[in-house]
Amino acid sequence: MLLNPINWPDGKKSAASVTFDIDADTLIRNACPEDAELRLQAISMGRYGPTVAVPRILDTYRRLGLTQTFFMPGWVMQNYPDTVEAILKDGHEIGHHSWAHEDPMDHSDDKEAELFGRAMDVHISMTGRKPRGYRAPIYSLTPAMVKRLIEHEFLYDSSMMADDLPYLVKAEAGNLIEIPPHWGTDDWPPFAHFGEIDYLMPIRSPSDGIRSFIEEFDASHEFGGFWMPVLHPFLTGRLARWREMEKHLERILESGDVWFAPLEDIAAHAKSPDVRLRVENI
Ligand SMILES: [Zn+2]
Repeated sequence: MLLNPINWPDGKKSAASVTFDIDADTLIRNACPEDAELRLQAISMGRYGPTVAVPRILDTYRRLGLTQTFFMPGWVMQNYPDTVEAILKDGHEIGHHSWAHEDPMDHSDDKEAELFGRAMDVHISMTGRKPRGYRAPIYSLTPAMVKRLIEHEFLYDSSMMADDLPYLVKAEAGNLIEIPPHWGTDDWPPFAHFGEIDYLMPIRSPSDGIRSFIEEFDASHEFGGFWMPVLHPFLTGRLARWREMEKHLERILESGDVWFAPLEDIAAHAKSPDVRLRVENI
């Protein structure tokens, strides 16, 4: 069923990585730049992510022995330093997720390069190293950004959707590992309800919403694939939803035949000489 299967380390049948994008209150600040400060409900909904949900998620990861990946805009890192510290203390990866969740399509290349660099500086000063991976806000990846990632020696991107498994992107500037998300494992469709950005969806119950991720996992595992939920702490980090997700993680870990790793380790494995990746030219 998979076009170009990958053998996973330690003889594991499939691979998985739970990723969280900590956008916090950048979303309302971008949507309503004139008066975001007055919109306390929307700001508080975003702040719930780094302040309440992330400690809950880290607690689960500690209990289950998982090391995973978080993507953070540089502005969020600067404004929530305790969150950054807690994530790093437990050995998780923090990936580049723009400066303040701006859409690369909204700016000139020069402006985008400046904002990208500003976030790089924050990453280096707060984590002590360059980020290895990038995910574009709202998956809005541009050719200019791919070039920028290659020039900055990023190992991987996680925004494009051309396969079920990691693949190799070949561009004029060089190569990049792509670790593909897709909307079936993203928590915006089942759980987001955000009037200020015209995203008013009927919210699914925690078990219904998480069940769609579980069905994605089941097929991925059956065929030796890769499962990567793209979650947001202010959505799936809510109590009942996270408890559903936690129960699912407990069940998977009990089976013992899934390789859980942060995306930088998934990408490093995909890049190893004994893995033959499918190539996409862009
Ligand atoms: Zn985001």
